[in-house]
Amino acid sequence: MSEQIPPQQQDRQPGVEGEMTPPAEFIRDDYQGSGKLRGRVAIVTGGDSGIGRAVALHFAREGADVVIPYLDEHEDASETKRRVEAEGRHCLLLDGDLSQAAFCRDVVARTIDQFDRLDVLVNNAARQELHDDPEATSDEEWLTTFDVNIHAYFYMAKAALPHLRRSGGTIINSTSVNAYAGHPKLLAYTTTKGAISGFTRALSQMTVGDGVRVNQVAPGPIWTPLIPSTMGQFDTDMVEDFGAQSPMGRAGQPSELGPAYVYLASRDSSYVSGQTIHVNGGMIVNG
Ligand code: NAD
Ligand code: MG
Repeated sequence: MSEQIPPQQQDRQPGVEGEMTPPAEFIRDDYQGSGKLRGRVAIVTGGDSGIGRAVALHFAREGADVVIPYLDEHEDASETKRRVEAEGRHCLLLDGDLSQAAFCRDVVARTIDQFDRLDVLVNNAARQELHDDPEATSDEEWLTTFDVNIHAYFYMAKAALPHLRRSGGTIINSTSVNAYAGHPKLLAYTTTKGAISGFTRALSQMTVGDGVRVNQVAPGPIWTPLIPSTMGQFDTDMVEDFGAQSPMGRAGQPSELGPAYVYLASRDSSYVSGQTIHVNGGMIVNG
């Protein structure tokens, strides 16, 4: 877990797990499921890899079937499906672009077709590009980043809510420590992550009376394909010792995020809505 991360890059985004050195950890061998999500159905966007894959595997070990919308990375997605099935649960893979509202509606419709219920929506897919100066972000990139990172969260929530009201379900959004601490090279991305915080809080207030809870997780530096495919693309040395600046002196593993999502998805958090869990190696941030 404390293995050093060497410089590296991947030349396109989204990145792939197979090219990462060292490989990431998704669920600890000694993580014991206790049926916290038995019989539930969850959508985990971007669940093909990284944090989303860890969430899918923890949910499956807790008894849930999982639907995974993702972009392009069929090998990563197939591997996640294989691991969910190894937990004895079903996994439906849906390849498509979540920035398109029609695809988001289709994801929910196909979930209901196959499983006849929806209990948990995890909005987690994201993109980012690094730049030295604000002017280097093109207007097009700005809009695309918003389309994927926040507009898709809205489209997914809108399509899912009728079903979540029926099941007394929950929504969990992936934001970032950057929304709280800022980031000198990630302007568009950080802005979308701040938008997610406002979205989580307002949506929670709108739906709490319907029995639907909405929370978010704010990860710090986590070892996922997003890092070599975006930071490594910008500057290979930026990946070297990624996370070393956190108080714990290392990057987090996706396996260290999964249990926070289980908590927010399950009845354990039945009195919690509109809140943020910071999983960031000990950084103290406001909010
Ligand atoms: P990841 O690359 O493994 O996961 C992101 C996934 O989003 C990709 O696998 C891809 O399938 C999906 N995706 C991207 N664009 C899409 C599109 N247009 N349509 C459908 N799917 C699309 O990276 P990750 O780090 O696990 O990211 C998961 C979440 O964690 C993101 O919201 C990210 O902002 C957040 N996060 C990550 C870190 C970190 O250090 N890795 C830190 C803070 C927050
Ligand atoms: Mg991926």
